[in-house]
Amino acid sequence: MKIVMLGAPGAGKGTQAKMIAEKYTIPHISTGDIFRANIKEGTPLGLEAKSYMDQGKLVPDELTVKILLDRVAKDDCRNGYVLDGFPRTIPQANVLKEALEKQNDKIDYAINVDVPDENIVRRMSGRRACVTCGATYHIEHVPPKKEGICDKCGSELILRDDDKPETVLNRLKIYHDQTQPLIDFYSNEGILKEVDGTIDVKDVFENITKILG
Ligand code: ADP
Ligand code: AMP
Repeated sequence: MKIVMLGAPGAGKGTQAKMIAEKYTIPHISTGDIFRANIKEGTPLGLEAKSYMDQGKLVPDELTVKILLDRVAKDDCRNGYVLDGFPRTIPQANVLKEALEKQNDKIDYAINVDVPDENIVRRMSGRRACVTCGATYHIEHVPPKKEGICDKCGSELILRDDDKPETVLNRLKIYHDQTQPLIDFYSNEGILKEVDGTIDVKDVFENITKILG
């Protein structure tokens, strides 16, 4: 099963993608996580990606597409995957489609997690991410057991630099300009599924499992 998660930054794509990956035993692939891991390791890719991410801009398609295609070519992707944060532009969606078509393959579901802009800034300023394992929490809605500490690995939780309100507004604008058109793209492909992302995390997930079976 190959799934694309759509939605604004902070809509809950990562939260749901991790749960999908666990239930259906497929890898969760987040281009944002791949970039952040490279930034942490200080690789040339990380350095380049950081200059865009810090401003809330998209990393250029050439760079992002290569990373994603290399990742989905790995062995663990044979039975499918859930993509979180990719594609983010129409050219990225076309490259993915063409790469899959060459293997007589396709994306099965594009799930749009719908959350209005008014909720997004609050979601993002309350998001806390683990510096080590990438787990995400929310100070009000999904709090860790111990404040500031990851339940899963015990590392420190931080507010991402790009989750500061001024950067979030920029990311939202870019989302509407460049990423939202993917809703029509996947609707035209006949695989778009919409879920309300404003309800409780476990209720969003229940609605997704009804779609995926
Ligand atoms: P995305 O991957 O779309 O950027 P995340 O999954 O990281 O978004 O979620 C953004 C923030 O909102 C996180 O702090 C997360 O814990 C919180 N969150 C996710 N889903 C919900 C929900 N249904 N209700 C309330 N908060 C949520
Ligand atoms: P995310 O973790 O999905 O919120 O992504 C964080 C940041 O990484 C984004 O704001 C972009 O700067 C960059 N990024 C992640 N995925 C992509 C993508 N598919 N295309 C371009 N930039 C991306």
